Amino acid sequence: MKVLICGGAGYIGSHIVREFTSLSGYEIVIVDNLSKGHVESIPKGVTFEEADICDKKSIEAVFEKHKPGAVMHFCASIEVGESVIDPLKYYENNVTGTIYLLQTMQKYKVKYFIFSSTAAIFGNPETTPIADDAKSVPINPYGDSKLTVEKILGWCENAFDIRYVCLRYFNACGAHESGEIGEDHNPETHLIPLILQVALGRRPQIKIYGNDYDTRDGTCIRDYIHVTDLAHAHIKALEYLVKENKSQKFNLGSGEGYSVKEVIEAARKVTGHPIPAVVEGRRPGDPAVLIAGSKRAEEILGWTRKYKNVEDIVASAWKYHQAYPHGYAPK
Ligand code: UDP
Repeated sequence: MKVLICGGAGYIGSHIVREFTSLSGYEIVIVDNLSKGHVESIPKGVTFEEADICDKKSIEAVFEKHKPGAVMHFCASIEVGESVIDPLKYYENNVTGTIYLLQTMQKYKVKYFIFSSTAAIFGNPETTPIADDAKSVPINPYGDSKLTVEKILGWCENAFDIRYVCLRYFNACGAHESGEIGEDHNPETHLIPLILQVALGRRPQIKIYGNDYDTRDGTCIRDYIHVTDLAHAHIKALEYLVKENKSQKFNLGSGEGYSVKEVIEAARKVTGHPIPAVVEGRRPGDPAVLIAGSKRAEEILGWTRKYKNVEDIVASAWKYHQAYPHGYAPK
């Protein structure tokens, strides 16, 4: 089967591409506009089309040329804080872009769609760990833009022959075990790479956004999931779609969380660096605790996690950061 991986040069997409390359029976085509993705992450021999999902003509040309059987969609703006400041950017990239992709799928009769959703659709959840069918009440435009797509997908399934899987990631992190690909955002806003930049001497200290949350040490708690474990869930989701021909939504979490202070402490152990930290005010749009169970993914997809410990996750990210201390392409 030919699988179009939109956003395949980005952080999560590149790790999925890497897992696919070790499987037989799939042909991968990466679509990426390289606004955030890195051409250096694309493995030799994998087809790459530079195109923007918000440019319908260029996306149609890719479908016309490659005739994919399934689409995985990772092109999105992903910063919670930025989404609060610039909501329209989020609705344009995340909702309008996805609509163009779905319209193109409808035109070319592509049936299977895997959507990169998020824990942020749940806002401040009523219960923890968050169940797969928990109520979705996002508290920032980023989460709302992803929830809007989840709703659109339900109506599309109803209206035309599309089957989808939504995968709600909690905090994707870590890097491929080879250290050859990893997390490189510009600007970087995510906790683990920022902490490791302190360990590398690129930043003097890590800022802790708020220590007055109702949590065990006052800092926000998140469910950190290794990107390679996430990649495996995508492949299982595609197998499920093809075999069962049913749409479904899965939370991908670990059932446990780590506070910001605990992640910093783990990084101190892994890197041997003191990693100075300073407490700042809360970041807008941040819920106190986000932890998910993955009951449905475990039961239906048979998904299991290899990385169960935050230190192992940080160690894998550290391997990449040491190999690429200034990211893929130092300027
Ligand atoms: N965070 C922090 N300092 C930073 C970056 C992030 O304290 O420099 C906190 C952030 O407020 C959140 C957690 O770390 O509670 C994880 O944030 P990240 O941006 O990595 O992921 P998100 O939870 O927003 O998807």
